[in-house]
Amino acid sequence: MIIFIYGLPGCGKGTQSLLLKERMSFIHLSTGDIIRDIIKNKKAGWEVLNEYSSSGSLVPDEIVNDLFMRAIDEKGYGHNYIIDGYPRTINQLKLIEKNLEDKKDIDILHIYLSCSEESIIRRITSRRTCMGCGTIYNINLDNDLEKCKLCGAQLYQRADDSYEVIKNRIDEYTNKTIPVILQLKSEGKLIEINGERKAEDIYVDIVNIIKGKR
Ligand SMILES: [Zn+2]
Repeated sequence: MIIFIYGLPGCGKGTQSLLLKERMSFIHLSTGDIIRDIIKNKKAGWEVLNEYSSSGSLVPDEIVNDLFMRAIDEKGYGHNYIIDGYPRTINQLKLIEKNLEDKKDIDILHIYLSCSEESIIRRITSRRTCMGCGTIYNINLDNDLEKCKLCGAQLYQRADDSYEVIKNRIDEYTNKTIPVILQLKSEGKLIEINGERKAEDIYVDIVNIIKGKR
């Protein structure tokens, strides 16, 4: 089984991927991890990837697609995969679907965690991190807390949690990846889950979908 998981940045894709990995032994594949692994271990083609990555330019879709197919081929189709952050564009979707065309006996699920932009921005921008022990708080739930309840150190807002950063990431996702989601939806291939709930509740839904497919 291969699960592609989609959702705006901050909607909890990473958390669900981790839960599937830890509790159901899914293999978690993400573009960044695959590329880092190839460069670090000097696997075939690492020089080219190293050039893209050190110059900061985007790796072309064809190459990214080959990397995913290679990663799955290497480990084999007997495993279950959770793929996060791919396909990111319509072109990538076309490539991966073409490559998976002849794998008729493998279940392929496209799961979309739906969250409103407002709810993500509200949650992320209200996040504060303790300078001392790293505990994360939500100041909406904790009435404008300023000091850590555990160690008393000052709380601060990480740069990644600022409005500008999260808004940019959401806009990029909306421009590039929402068309992928709409395309899958129009073809009746998209499974939509309400992502504005507790991680455990979302996880239960995903597990039920997986069980229904077996
Ligand atoms: Zn603390």
